[in-house]
Amino acid sequence: MLINITTLPGDGIGPEVTEQAVHVLHVIADGFGHQLKVTEKNIGGAALVASNDPLPPDTIQSCLASGAVLLGAVGGPAFDSYPAKLRPEAGLLRLRSELDVFANLRPAICLEGLESLSPLRAEIVRGTDVLIVRELLGGLYFGERSTKGDSGRRRAVDTMAYSEAEIERIARVAFELARHRKNKLTSVDKANVLDSSRLWREVVNRVSREFPEVQLSHMYVDSAAMALVSRPTQFDVILTENMFGDILSDQAGAVVGSLGLLPSASIGGKVGLYEPIHGSAPDIAGQGIANPLGAILSAAMLLRHSFQLEVEAASIEAAVREVLAEGHRSRDLAAKGQRTVTTSEMGELVSGRVRERIQTPAN
Ligand code: NAD
Repeated sequence: MLINITTLPGDGIGPEVTEQAVHVLHVIADGFGHQLKVTEKNIGGAALVASNDPLPPDTIQSCLASGAVLLGAVGGPAFDSYPAKLRPEAGLLRLRSELDVFANLRPAICLEGLESLSPLRAEIVRGTDVLIVRELLGGLYFGERSTKGDSGRRRAVDTMAYSEAEIERIARVAFELARHRKNKLTSVDKANVLDSSRLWREVVNRVSREFPEVQLSHMYVDSAAMALVSRPTQFDVILTENMFGDILSDQAGAVVGSLGLLPSASIGGKVGLYEPIHGSAPDIAGQGIANPLGAILSAAMLLRHSFQLEVEAASIEAAVREVLAEGHRSRDLAAKGQRTVTTSEMGELVSGRVRERIQTPAN
């Protein structure tokens, strides 16, 4: 198969971690007999420096002509004083809407041996494996907004709006994903207060009839926030609207620990976008110590969701688990005094393990 991707390394540690993810993808392509075609383009601060535009036209064209996009990270202190439209983050937001990706997938998994990274007790977090499916292009962040009145008497309004069609399409994505996991879906809303949530619940119930094998439950967002920290293992797939998902996915990330480990996917539109959830980490950029696992696991999601290469994706995820189980740690994952590996060493460890798994498929 042709794995035709555009990479957008971006700023700070973005290029360092993307390089390792691409390295792993090359090993996968070689081992499984695929052809990997990688086109690298600018985004964010790197694009601003090169062409005064955080999302240049040739970047958009390349992304739209690819099977998937792998992004590093954007942003940095050098661009903090730029006007809003010329901020690196503006390029990323524009890219998401150009690609029309309405479903954001954020897995939060507590990997064996990494329970101590969680602020929760090990017995509570152990076994957590949640996939948050967040609606990304509607709701409060995209509704009508205004600020009116004179200073001291101003009134600001934001609107949370959802159409049946918007709810239906994200619900279908979540049910499909649940079908390939534990067949358990929790839809999170605030239907005791909000009209948009009542419609959300009604439409989700309707879509659930197409997926009788998936066990659906509903939860108010405040209860869900509590349950995520008190009983995180009770969840499999969580489906929710844009703002609730924004908050809950960060919370779930914190529950399982390191920022550097967590991948994400934004799908449902023309071309899928895959990126680690961390930012450009300017404090450690260029030192070769960033954790590349979030980017590597994003590459696994890319293979699964944009190319339907489940075996290949799973072999990357298993390799990451094995490398961590053997005790290898990047600096952000290490306990005090523990030996650490560099960004490229971690990438090589995962690549080596993927190679071994391909050579001995019984693994
Ligand atoms: P950050 O995620 O970049 O860093 C937060 C902390 O986590 C830092 O101490 C950093 O060193 C550490 N960290 C993050 N990723 C790591 C990794 N892979 N390995 C080891 N340590 C890691 O968040 P921030 O400091 O708030 O933001 C820095 C810049 O990134 C800002 O300009 C912000 O706007 C941008 N940002 C971009 C994205 C994105 O590209 N999607 C997301 C968040 C923040």
